[in-house]
Formats: sequence, structure tokens, C-alpha cells
Amino acid sequence: MNRIPVLEGSFVSEPEPALVGSRCRSCETVAFPASFTCPNPRCMDKDVAPAPLSRTGRLASWTTVHFPPPPPFVAPDPFVPITVVEVEFASEGIQVVGPLTGAGADELRMGMPMETVVEPYYADRDGEVIGWKFRPAEESNDD
Ligand SMILES: [Zn+2]
Repeated sequence: MNRIPVLEGSFVSEPEPALVGSRCRSCETVAFPASFTCPNPRCMDKDVAPAPLSRTGRLASWTTVHFPPPPPFVAPDPFVPITVVEVEFASEGIQVVGPLTGAGADELRMGMPMETVVEPYYADRDGEVIGWKFRPAEESNDD
């Protein structure tokens, strides 16, 4: 089946799943999704380059959505509640929102390590749309 990234260039699957944002060459500010201009209001340099993010961050917040979000989100019918998590990537200084996978909301706790995975979001006539999700990870000392 044709695999279509939900946002072109925003992640890689190989060698390991990771988000790809941008990093300003002047002030090192990281943005996700990638920005063509540095988002730092004191910089705003246009010299930005693609930057893979850390694979693992820490859970900063989450919520469970009990109603279908508006388009372009494609909701299953009948709708199944989804849990959305916000993961802090401390070394990049940003937080990224994505769907939870591999666990239930009742298993989450603030600050737990979360790793980036790439999984299908939904399938349609053109193929399978894939994107990033976050799942609980083993505690590690490398972040
Ligand atoms: Zn900058």
C-alpha cells in the first residue's frame, strides 16, 4: 500500500523514527514543524536547516478527546476517543503534540519518558497516511 506522510519532511522512519524540525544557524532555536524563518522574535534569521529531534522526550500534558476533531482530521466512524499527548524535548526547548499509542491514558504520569514512533493515522483510496505518535518509553539516562 502507498504510504503517505501526513506532513512531508516532518519525520523519518529509518534508521529509527524521529521528528525532523528546523534549527536556526544563528541562534540555535529549534522549531517543529520546520520553519523557513527563525521563530525567535529577536532573531528571525532565514538561515535555518533541517534538524532531527531527540527520539525521546518527557510527557508534559495529555487529554482524551471524546468527539471528532474538525477536518482535515479524519475520524473513524463510529468515533473512538483518542488520547493526545504533549511531549517536551528539553534539549531542543520545544513541545510537540501527537496521538498516544501503545498505552492507555490511565497508564500515563507527568514527566514519564515518551518515544517517537511512526504509525498509520488512517487509510483512504490513495493509500495509508502515516505520521508520528508517542508511546511510553523505558527510563534512560541519556537525556
Ligand atoms: Zn535564530
